[in-house]
Amino acid sequence: MGSAQATSALPSSAIVSINPATGEPLGEVPDMPAAEVRAAVAKARAAQQAWAAQPVEVRCRRVLRFAEVLMARAEEVIDLLVREGGKTRLEALGMEIVLVADLVRYFTKHAPEMLAPTPVPLHLMKHRASYLKYVPRGVVGVIAPWNFPFSIPIGETIMALIAGNAVVLKPSEVTPLIAIKAREIFIAADLPPDLFQIVTGRGGTGAALIDAGIDFCVFTGSVATGKKVAAACGERLIPCTLELGGKAPVVVCHDADLDRAAQAITWGGFANSGQVCASVERVYAVASIHDELVSRVTHLAKELRQGDPAQEVDIGAMAWDQQVSHVEKLVADAVAHGATLETGGHRNGQFFEPTVLSGCRQDMDVMRKEIFGPVIPIMKVESEDEAVRLANDSHLGLLAYVFTRDRERGRRIAERIEAGTVMVNDVLNTYACPETPWGGVKQSGIGRTHSITGLRDMCETRHINHDRVSLAREVWWYPYKDGTFRALLRGARLLFGKRPWQR
Ligand code: NDP
Repeated sequence: MGSAQATSALPSSAIVSINPATGEPLGEVPDMPAAEVRAAVAKARAAQQAWAAQPVEVRCRRVLRFAEVLMARAEEVIDLLVREGGKTRLEALGMEIVLVADLVRYFTKHAPEMLAPTPVPLHLMKHRASYLKYVPRGVVGVIAPWNFPFSIPIGETIMALIAGNAVVLKPSEVTPLIAIKAREIFIAADLPPDLFQIVTGRGGTGAALIDAGIDFCVFTGSVATGKKVAAACGERLIPCTLELGGKAPVVVCHDADLDRAAQAITWGGFANSGQVCASVERVYAVASIHDELVSRVTHLAKELRQGDPAQEVDIGAMAWDQQVSHVEKLVADAVAHGATLETGGHRNGQFFEPTVLSGCRQDMDVMRKEIFGPVIPIMKVESEDEAVRLANDSHLGLLAYVFTRDRERGRRIAERIEAGTVMVNDVLNTYACPETPWGGVKQSGIGRTHSITGLRDMCETRHINHDRVSLAREVWWYPYKDGTFRALLRGARLLFGKRPWQR
């Protein structure tokens, strides 16, 4: 089978997709064995050659059509995102659909320039010239999580396709139907069907994809699985990009605009039910504004409406039942160790109340482990220096945030924080800026997606070096002569030694 179809006539190992808000089964997909994964990669590889042969401008024109069909069918995709992912309609529109449509628009406009050969000026060997050529890698394997089941894998897919690759996508077993819907749109946009394959299944299907002869792997998921993926790619010498977990700190300075900071922290901690790798995961508030900040965030949290995400609510359900149990445990542990539950803290099926904890300490699990749920732990600190030290005291470094009215101070603090991206006076948003690089330091990952770097990473960078003038031979070729040695030494001293006029 080249691509998965939602069907009910499947073996017992079939995966049933469930609406997390209602428990209603939505459809089934197969848990594909390795042979089917290999067949999908082979089909994609065959389709890739004709695709790569087209000029990048033609590929961009064709991919642009994907955004047009997506926007025409937006309600249908939003409906499935809400039902399968538990997210609100506004989140499905803003964080999934619009984000992808904009990414398509941006890269189809700029890719021809970004992927054009780049000259490399040679500083010494002026008689020669170099340039870099970006050649599609072949088949890109995309392995995706469940929190943004559309924007993450489809954003990667679009970039890979524009660069001239084929894609085989392994969606999370929690949200497979939305990947199948994305392929329907791809086909409706008149793109070559074999160029984009979906392989459904559990972790084993992801492992089989890495073993199926792909040329590049883009993995987004947890640190634990990321390490397995890196090892599997290393074994096969397949280059990979790893977009892993986050534990975003927020440093709230004494001079912060507390109104804006409280709103940003509330949205940054609870959007998508906190299931965002860039979510606000720990807040360090300096003593002078701490109590006021806790009170404002708590007040805002209490006002949020949680419920069936198909209705007009602010917070929907969490996508995966095991994640809810993890969040529940972290909150209980924090309270048992002395944190104060300002609001929330309870589970109702697959809904977890928006929760604010104060009195947190750095040694609590809730401040150290990724929560990936709607919980905002707040800790009082004596100074901004202490906040920066604690922000950096983590094995993760994806996103970080600073709030201050003094922009210069904000940038100074931002530059001291160990993270892939630090935002001053805002949260989350840069994933929606396709021109900026996205990725982490430390165990938050390797490599970058989005931006010119992410697009070029979808290619092999090949270096061409050629002559500009015709010489019979290079001076350092055979035969080696003493005269050449003396001339080269004189020349090298002139170039690299202390200059006579500097004596
Ligand atoms: P997982 O690591 O559990 O799963 C990610 C994907 O890997 C899934 O498709 C999963 O399949 C698959 N997989 C599981 N085992 C293997 C294996 N051995 N080889 C290959 N693939 C495998 O992550 P989650 O889905 O739980 O996603 C949440 C995590 O993702 C969080 O830590 C979050 O921070 C991170 N994330 C990072 C982002 C970033 O940009 N840095 C963005 C979004 C999320 P299956 O689901 O079927 O098990």
